[in-house]
Parts: sequence; structure tokens; C-alpha cells
Amino acid sequence: MDKSGKLILVPTPIGNLQDITLRAVTVLKTADLILAEDTRVSVKLLKHLEIEKHMMSHHKFNEHKTLTSIVAQIEMGNTVALISDAGTPAISDPGFLLVRACVEKGLEVECLPGPTALIPALAVSGLPTEKFVFEGFLPQKKGRQTRLKFLAEETRTMLFYESPFRLAKTLGQFCEYFGAERKACVCRELSKMFEEINRGDVKELAEYYTAHPPKGEIVIVVEGKA
Ligand code: SAM
Repeated sequence: MDKSGKLILVPTPIGNLQDITLRAVTVLKTADLILAEDTRVSVKLLKHLEIEKHMMSHHKFNEHKTLTSIVAQIEMGNTVALISDAGTPAISDPGFLLVRACVEKGLEVECLPGPTALIPALAVSGLPTEKFVFEGFLPQKKGRQTRLKFLAEETRTMLFYESPFRLAKTLGQFCEYFGAERKACVCRELSKMFEEINRGDVKELAEYYTAHPPKGEIVIVVEGKA
């Protein structure tokens, strides 16, 4: 019987290695090929899981070029697992182009449920979770002000990924565009040893992080317009 190929997106821990799922381990062990955003990062995870397998790199600088050959592998009946450095592939990480190419070819695509930074941040924030909007990283220069003006009218809870170097500036801009009293929650180093959840209004948080420059990885959750 012919083996039918598929693409499987495999979420990996965002800090705590215990967050890998049993199913993710099985898929990584049995896949014909593992595509990794940075093989130097993923080799550590595979070592921890005692999986010895060749990986191919699939990152934002080569993903356009390698699409055709990966799609061909799946068409030949291979199971290809895609992982990123941390969290769920295709969420502010490479993956979307490959998923779209497979969907266009009518190939099977699966995504395992698993770690991602935005959902724990939303759930722990204390802000409404019923409806929310994920903004990923704000544009750094061009288009930033336009986006902030647009988001000032957003009524759903908003989630942003942010670098520690821009956190205080971004919170300052939230004060300016959304109003100083808008509630927010800064989630830093989720699932790691120095996890920090800091709730307050955007003015308090901007002042705090100006006085205490942070390190690590950050999700900002902001209340929508009343
Ligand atoms: N694919 C990942 C996911 O599913 O969340 C996101 C990858 S994106 C390149 C990296 C950003 O995710 C970081 O800059 C930070 O904003 C957020 N992030 C990742 N891990 C985190 C953690 N442990 N705590 C807080 N934020 C995190």
C-alpha cells in the first residue's frame, strides 16, 4: 500500500522542557524528516529527548527556496515534522508559507496542540479572554504609528510579542495612544525560572520598566477599549 505523506507542525517548549507533549515526542521520533528553524537550537531538544535524527534547516531566509523540494518530499509519501526554536511553528515563526504550499497542493497538514507564548499570557492576565486579537510584533518603524492609531479603537483584548529592549518604549506609546489608565499585563519568561507576571495600568508599567530594564522574552496583554 502506498504511504501518504503529510506535514506536521510540532510545538516545542517556550522555556520549560517538561512542556513537550508525549505526542510531539512520538512524531519527532517517527517523522521521515525534521525541519528546524535553527538546527543548533533544536539539536539540544532532540538530545534531551534522546532522538537522533538528521534535521534540515527551514528559516525565514531560505523558506522560499526550499518549499518546492519539501512539498516534493511530502508528495513522495514522507512525513515531514516542522519545529521552530520555541513554541508553535507559523506563529511569529516560519511555517505559514510551507503550510500554504501544502494546502494548495491538497496535501495533508496537521498541527499538534502544544506550547505557545500567547495563550498562557492571555489566560493569566486577568483581562477578558472571550475575544482577543493577536498582533505579534508591532512594526518597528514604518507603519508603527498607523497601527497604534488603528488599535486605539480595538475593543478586544490585544496581545503583543515584544523584545525587552523596546518594552518600556512600547508601553509609553500605549499610554500615548490608548490612554494612561488602560489596563495591561506584562508576562516575562513564561514557564522559566524567573517568570514574572506584572499587572497594572500602562502608565505604571511603563514607569516600572523604565526604572527596571528587563531581560528575557515578553508578551504584553492590553485591555481593549471600553
Ligand atoms: N512561535 C512562538 C510561539 O508560539 O509563541 C513565538 C516565536 S517569536 C519569534 C518569539 C517571541 O515570543 C518572543 O520575542 C516573545 O515575545 C514570545 N515568547 C516566546 N517565549 C516566551 C516566554 N517564555 N515568555 C514570554 N514570551 C515568550
